[in-house]
Formats: sequence, structure tokens, C-alpha cells
Amino acid sequence: MGPPGAGKGTHAAHLAGRLGVPVVSTGDIFRAQVAAGTDLGRTAQRYLDAGEYVPDEVTNAMVRERLAADDCGAGFLLDGYPRTLDQVAVLDDIRGVDAVVVLRVDQEALVRRLLRRAETERRSDDTEDVIRRRLQVYADQTVPLISVYDDRGLLREIDGNGEIHEVRHRVLHVAGVLVPAESAGAPTPAE
Ligand code: AMP
Repeated sequence: MGPPGAGKGTHAAHLAGRLGVPVVSTGDIFRAQVAAGTDLGRTAQRYLDAGEYVPDEVTNAMVRERLAADDCGAGFLLDGYPRTLDQVAVLDDIRGVDAVVVLRVDQEALVRRLLRRAETERRSDDTEDVIRRRLQVYADQTVPLISVYDDRGLLREIDGNGEIHEVRHRVLHVAGVLVPAESAGAPTPAE
């Protein structure tokens, strides 16, 4: 979990690779459906473009189907789900989670990162107005989930400010997948 621009996608991909499990990113699935012009994509597009959440019943049905696939049998890493209390309840019903990693990033750094991403990736929802709306929706609908998972003892909060390799190190550390050289702070060969 984390606000838009916190680095969820970047760190989820790396961590999932290290854990040997697939990443299930609801945002990526929605964007793929939009690109493919499916019914789901047509439904989702207006919400994505406005910075609003896709309705729970649509999102939950999609996640249920994805997590039932064979490759998720031994585990998975969710990126961007759950984002509402209703989604938490559905995820509880599908399968419990082992841990919830939250990336915390200063607000101004987020807006800077998102505007930079807008130039490179051309996402339709990375305009300044939509960015501010997405940050507000996150504050209203998703921040309450933090205390839910904290009460369950599952929360792992991480400082998401700084360079990607620094944040990656913190993520791997809380996930318990650091090798000794990384523990000492040395960059990995991929960097
Ligand atoms: P992301 O790539 O995670 O920032 O998601 C991009 C957009 O996809 C969000 O702004 C929402 O419109 C939609 N989306 C992604 N995940 C969810 C979710 N769990 N619930 C509702 N909408 C979502």
C-alpha cells in the first residue's frame, strides 16, 4: 500500500521476483483491459481517467478471478489492492495475507514524482488535477486501512523517500529476503 507515486509498482516487481511469486497489480490489469478495449476496460477507463476508484464489485470480481489462477497457488504479492474497507473484507474471504507493506512518502515528493512519470509514461491519470484527486481519494478511502492492518499486527511501514535502491533495501529488509551483502548496504548487481 501507499499513495500514488510512492513506488508500489517498482518495489512490488522487485520483491515478487525475490520471493518467486507473481505480482497482482489491479492498476496494471485495468490498464491492460483498457488497452485491449474489453468491456471491463471500457467500464474502468472513466474511473481511471478521473482518478476515482473503480467500483468495489468490479474490482473484487476481477481480483477473485485472478487469485484463483494456478500461478497464485503458492502465494502472490498484491500491488494496489485492497484500497477500500469492502475490498479488505473480500480479500479476507479469499485468503489471508501474511504482511502489509506501506510506503510513506512526503506529499510534495509524490506530486514531483508523478509529474515526472507523466512525461515518461504518458499515463492518462498523471495530470496535475487528477494527481491531486488521486491523493485525496487515497487519503479518504485507503488510509483507514492502515489502522485495520496495524490492529492485526500485519503492518510493515517503510520510509519511501530517497533513492530507489535505498527504499528497495528497506523493503527487502522488512520482507526478510536480504542476502548478507545487501544487509551491509552494498548495491545489488542489478543496480
Ligand atoms: P495504480 O496503478 O495502482 O495507481 O491504479 C491506477 C488506477 O486504477 C486507480 O487510480 C484506480 O482508478 C484504479 N484502481 C487500481 N486498483 C484499484 C483498486 N484496488 N480499487 C479501485 N480502483 C483501483
